[in-house]
Amino acid sequence: MTADPVTGWRKPGRLVVAVVGAGPSGIYAAEALTQASGVEVEVAVIDRLPVPFGLVRYGVAPDHPSIRSIRTTLERTLEKPGVHFFGDVMIGRDLTVDELRGAVDAVVYAWGAGTSRSLGVVGEDATGSLSAADFVAWYCGHPDAHPDAPGSRIDHDQPARLLAEVTSAVVVGAGNVALDVVRILIKDADDLATTDMADGVLAAMRSKKITDVHLLARRGPGLTQMTTKELRELGTVEGCDVILYPDDLDWQAESLTEISKVAQRNLVEFSQWANGSRRLGAGKRVHLHFWTRPTMINTRNGRVTGVEFEDSRPGVVQQGSVQAQLVVRAIGYKGVELPGVPFDADTGRVPHVDGRVLAEPDGVSFQTGEYVTGWIKRGPTGVIGTNKSDAVETVNSLLHDLEGGDLTSRHHSLADLTTLLSARGITPLDLHAWHRIDAAEIDRGHAHGRDRATLAHRSELLAAAGPLGSQP
Ligand code: NAP
Repeated sequence: MTADPVTGWRKPGRLVVAVVGAGPSGIYAAEALTQASGVEVEVAVIDRLPVPFGLVRYGVAPDHPSIRSIRTTLERTLEKPGVHFFGDVMIGRDLTVDELRGAVDAVVYAWGAGTSRSLGVVGEDATGSLSAADFVAWYCGHPDAHPDAPGSRIDHDQPARLLAEVTSAVVVGAGNVALDVVRILIKDADDLATTDMADGVLAAMRSKKITDVHLLARRGPGLTQMTTKELRELGTVEGCDVILYPDDLDWQAESLTEISKVAQRNLVEFSQWANGSRRLGAGKRVHLHFWTRPTMINTRNGRVTGVEFEDSRPGVVQQGSVQAQLVVRAIGYKGVELPGVPFDADTGRVPHVDGRVLAEPDGVSFQTGEYVTGWIKRGPTGVIGTNKSDAVETVNSLLHDLEGGDLTSRHHSLADLTTLLSARGITPLDLHAWHRIDAAEIDRGHAHGRDRATLAHRSELLAAAGPLGSQP
């Protein structure tokens, strides 16, 4: 360590940090690290996928281009001196967590929440019942949902096959992901044709037969998780009615002492729809059902035929059902464990205090040099920007530990990490590779009159990435 002659601050030299996950939370952590004063930081932003941007690329709906364009800001961070993208490197497969820990001074975990909560009702596993995590991954062109070889976590042809047959769909959940899914299901393909959807996904959208989408919310209209901007957008979808029955608008049943500003604004929207403001006699309909708790997914020959539900209002005993050939469960995401990192299976999160990883969920001791940020830290909540303040909190904890001597700088560069990877025969995809993929997606889009078309298959991404280690 060298002491600053003016301030007396003891400069700890160069700190080498690995961030696991190149989604917004990981990249915001890298950004916060580069802005640290008094210490020079070298950051490897590692992702198991060949491309960066995580949820911005594979979670934000394709018809929300302005949110997707946050990618440009994230890319600027990856271009900063001292920040290096390590794509197509999977911690837990290519390197163990211990090996990674040994090659750098500190690790920030930011691998997000990649799976869905389950409803726990009969029929959930039938053909035609999809989790939002899988359906969103599919329409965003995630390589896991578009495998080159069979054996992925989902049958990748299923969404396309279903869309060609289904006339009525159910979406369970009352959050923004449910709204995204409803919109993508009900919108005309022509209204999606300017998006960056993968060619195969757009083709499946063109074969859609859906006329009715039913959104089932287990609570009332005063307690949804929807934000007003996203809710209002539903009322602007071309050629689609929004149907809400006045009886369902019973928000007093929620016994709310205080109603939030967002809920107040949402209730105005819901009231107008209950009064028929979006009953235009259009060819397609979105039906909003409140107080509706699914009890069973009906099936015939292993395929979804509808959903049974009960009224969830206190004291109301009433059952009902809706016919549908597709059910998408948009009831929240859940984090998955990375072997070697403490994990609380109940919450689906890495236990922590202010971003410092705890050795055990209820413990008091910390894992030296291990930090966590994003959805795997706080759970699947908040908008993209929420990850920025979250990452700053985590990085502040890391820098505080460095200042206090709980974290020490032992490495001078990322050489130990790259040597370890090359000994395994692994050459990470760098930012040059991403730039070539980016150019290929733009070319693919232009060929069909679009600004960009996502390359969905891993083989396409790797082919576009070009020879490993080559410059642009
Ligand atoms: P969410 O906001 O937590 O919503 C989950 C919904 O599922 C809630 O309505 C919840 O109802 C319901 N639910 C949970 N368990 C259920 C069950 N067993 N049966 C029936 N319903 C159940 O999660 P999300 O929609 O996945 O969104 C995740 C985060 O991403 C949110 O912060 C969201 O705002 C954000 N996001 C933002 C945008 C945007 O800004 N455009 C787009 C997409 C996502 P209860 O409330 O009753 O628990």
